[in-house]
Amino acid sequence: MSKDNNKHFTIMIIPHSEKESVVLNVPVYIFKILSIALVMTSIFAIMFIKQYYDYREEAQYAQRSIAENKSLTREFAVVARDAIELREKVARIEELDQQIRKANEFDPTKSYFSQQNRLALVEEEPDEKSRVTASSLLATEAQGAVQAVKDSLPMREESLQEVQSLLQERHQELAAIPSIWPTSGNMVSGFGMRTDPFTYRPDFHTGIDIANRTGTPIYATADGRIVFAKFDGGYGRSILINHGNGISTRYAHLSRYTVEPGQHVKKGALVGYMGATGRATGPHLHYEVIVNGNAIDPYKYLP
Ligand SMILES: [Zn+2]
Repeated sequence: MSKDNNKHFTIMIIPHSEKESVVLNVPVYIFKILSIALVMTSIFAIMFIKQYYDYREEAQYAQRSIAENKSLTREFAVVARDAIELREKVARIEELDQQIRKANEFDPTKSYFSQQNRLALVEEEPDEKSRVTASSLLATEAQGAVQAVKDSLPMREESLQEVQSLLQERHQELAAIPSIWPTSGNMVSGFGMRTDPFTYRPDFHTGIDIANRTGTPIYATADGRIVFAKFDGGYGRSILINHGNGISTRYAHLSRYTVEPGQHVKKGALVGYMGATGRATGPHLHYEVIVNGNAIDPYKYLP
């Protein structure tokens, strides 16, 4: 036994009655044990209180989370439905692309969209396994829709760019075909066999003659490049325009011209003025359409 264990406190309880006093002989180590027990109890109490507050905070947080979750679910449903709607709109743009191609007789094989892709856009169904909750079903469908839109947008852009360039080409082709009247006036002589106004002998007329006053404006009938603007024998002051694709037009007997060789002109551009230069009996325009070197009836090209 150690020395400490021999120390004692003596506690005397003296009643205020006739009863005998109680004398308690308490060893010191009992006090030590009691002190330790008190400290331990205090620590446990503090831990318990802290735990309680932590739990209460967590419960409040959970409650807030549930409310937030509900509102997020509602907001997500709106976004998801928008995504699905977006997929349908993109599918509609694809349909329009197809219709534009069809209407313009563009090569449908040049379309970048397969039937399969279109079906995927319109009818994409969520995986059976994911049919757990309404929200997860919606999430899967929305995810699929966003993915489908994401996958098809670059192709869609490429295809529309192709349509744009095809339309531009088509526009250029149309602009290069003579399709308007070169001047105003009366058509006094048509294309084909006729009696020559000078020799009165049968003669093949290679164009049409439109008569009006000297100085009546003459216009290019299609986009093209001026081959020449010169005095050309019986044609007098005349212009030849090359429109590409083997097509050119001639404007003869002009009083003067307003263009130079090599110049590019647009359909409807002023190129000169009516006159009676060369082999002409009076002021008129002799207009020719030449295809692959052969004069053809210009009337067929007029509106
Ligand atoms: Zn003529």
